[in-house]
Amino acid sequence: MTAVVRLVLDVPLDKVFDYRLEDASATDRGRLAVVPFGSRTTVGMILDVTDASDVDPAQLKSVTRVLREEPALSPDDWQLLRFASDYYHYPLGQAVMGALPLRLRKPPRATAARAVRPRAARIRAAADPAPFHELTEAQLAAVEAVGAQLGRFAAFLLLGVTGSGKTEVYLRLAADVLDRGNQVLMLVPEIALTPQLESMVQARFPQTRLVSLHSALNETERLTNWRAAQTGDARIVLGTRLAVFTPLPQLGLIVVDEEHDGSFKQTEGFCYSARDLAIARAHQRGVPVVLGSATPSLETYHNATSGRYTLLELPQRINARPPRIECIPLDRRQMTGSFTTRLLDAIESCLVRKDQALVFINRRGYAPVLTCRHCGWLSGCDRCSAQLVLHMPKPRLHCHHCGHERRVPDACPQCGEQDLTPLGQGTQRIEEALRDRFTEARVLRIDRDSTRRKHAWDAMREQIRSRDVDILVGTQMLAKGHDFPHLALVGVLNADSMLYSADFRAAERLYALLTQVAGRAGRGESQGEVLIQTEYPAHPLYAALREQDFRGFADQLLAERRQAGFPPFVHQALLRAEAREVAKALEFLEHARALGREIGGNVQLFDAVPALLVRLAGRERAQLLVQSGSRTDLHAFLKTWRARLGQGKTSRVRWALEVDPLEL
Ligand code: ADP
Ligand code: ZN
Ligand code: ZN
Repeated sequence: MTAVVRLVLDVPLDKVFDYRLEDASATDRGRLAVVPFGSRTTVGMILDVTDASDVDPAQLKSVTRVLREEPALSPDDWQLLRFASDYYHYPLGQAVMGALPLRLRKPPRATAARAVRPRAARIRAAADPAPFHELTEAQLAAVEAVGAQLGRFAAFLLLGVTGSGKTEVYLRLAADVLDRGNQVLMLVPEIALTPQLESMVQARFPQTRLVSLHSALNETERLTNWRAAQTGDARIVLGTRLAVFTPLPQLGLIVVDEEHDGSFKQTEGFCYSARDLAIARAHQRGVPVVLGSATPSLETYHNATSGRYTLLELPQRINARPPRIECIPLDRRQMTGSFTTRLLDAIESCLVRKDQALVFINRRGYAPVLTCRHCGWLSGCDRCSAQLVLHMPKPRLHCHHCGHERRVPDACPQCGEQDLTPLGQGTQRIEEALRDRFTEARVLRIDRDSTRRKHAWDAMREQIRSRDVDILVGTQMLAKGHDFPHLALVGVLNADSMLYSADFRAAERLYALLTQVAGRAGRGESQGEVLIQTEYPAHPLYAALREQDFRGFADQLLAERRQAGFPPFVHQALLRAEAREVAKALEFLEHARALGREIGGNVQLFDAVPALLVRLAGRERAQLLVQSGSRTDLHAFLKTWRARLGQGKTSRVRWALEVDPLEL
């Protein structure tokens, strides 16, 4: 009898691989092993230990080495990865290996033992934890509701306006969970927010080992933190979407803050939603999960209002009044450049009062496109169906999609006239306009370009807090979670450009974004003021925003979605294909569609269509939408479909299946 181990490997195949291992034991399940694969050596994970294989014993290769110095993945952790692989129809081996820190995915050098010793717990000298606030009634009700479910599965939506003290609720719950000897997993959307949150949480629990997991860590840090969670040494894990897979032997609570945020969804390769996996994981482990947001996704909101989740509300800001939101109609006769007189006056009086103002425009660069006034030429990207954005002060043209960059031509490449001019507004141009207008004011621009250097954003936040800045200009980077106590006014430019879009989720997203931006104003003593410049002040979205009536708005959108047969009332999957020419991608999708029809079942297959951005980095893309009123039926279909698609000849077309796509 030969001992055989069954492994999953990091290869795009839906199968397991058998290897011979003489001294195999049941405890090897979940361990990493180095194995020969083709002409190379790779690392895989042992799924099972058995004594029989379908492979001809003569063909059976041997495991090079089992990494027994590394802890094994527990059955609980396996269960989550298996679920994720099934649900997203993604090969188990790639899902498993993709979830691990990079260091564990590569064959170790033969000699170096590479078990990472967990650092000694960071015990702070004094035990003077930062004090907990006395909870408001609404906070207390929320803490009690979740607290009553510790030790079993329950899902909660904590719907709380910005500044209503959601974080305080998480921290109180964390304290209870830690007291019971359990671990807490907290997921947040932004890497940029983790250091702040990390120090705040650590200050509350100075004796508790807390680790963070996000993509800005180096590989050693990531492995160390992962290990600390796996051994139970770390009691609180704070991280972005990839942290959802962290092994946590004593998991007691999962929190997903800003659950509506798109960054919880991975959009390439293994397209999982960390929020949805957090719920699945809580269910598997029998622990509560709390989803927090001021503007939850309609999927979550629907679950919370239809009884599947428990809805908890924090309707009021803690120490401040809600901001006053007003729409300013765009009137060309009363404008200076992009600014209405009303907004300029408001900024002026803000400066007089020595308060800070923020001008929000969701577009970085100087101008979205360069044009020739003579012949109408536009600066397009050769590799994408998109315009090149003009950046200053050294004039350059950038593609925000593929990263292509080039210098600005001296004359029009089409007609030769020297009549090139920037069209539209970006953060840099708005910054310039504000400097020209308010010559005494200190203006600071905050976007991906100005914060590229490491720690730049930290330094800027400090500048804002210490009032070294009068006017901030920025993109959505400024919208998320930051607390600027001296910020009294928010002006919003160009919101309309996000109002009309082919995507049925555009309104939901814009509402969430504007609510977050608005939430930055008036977190200190004075009431915040939010001025939105728009052509359509009567639009229902702006009306709901003025009333700060998320529930009214969400109920309305849900009624429309029900009517139109959109999610969350149907379940969707998207088959994406890309090739050198879109025709090839479409051809593949047509074939896939025909195959889908053969399979049949309770699903609706739409036409294959070119993607919104057809050309990206020199490849052309198309997509095919599948949907069903029944999630079970959809997944049954996808399983068969995917397996059969995998058998076709698709050498010149790359394709991928995305379950629950957020962008169509
Ligand atoms: P949210 O996460 O809902 O936007 P925060 O948790 O950031 O809100 O709370 C807003 C502010 O109110 C923070 O400065 C926080 O310290 C403070 N805060 C929260 N709860 C209380 C409370 N019960 N009493 C006093 N201050 C509180
Ligand atoms: Zn021209
Ligand atoms: Zn491009």
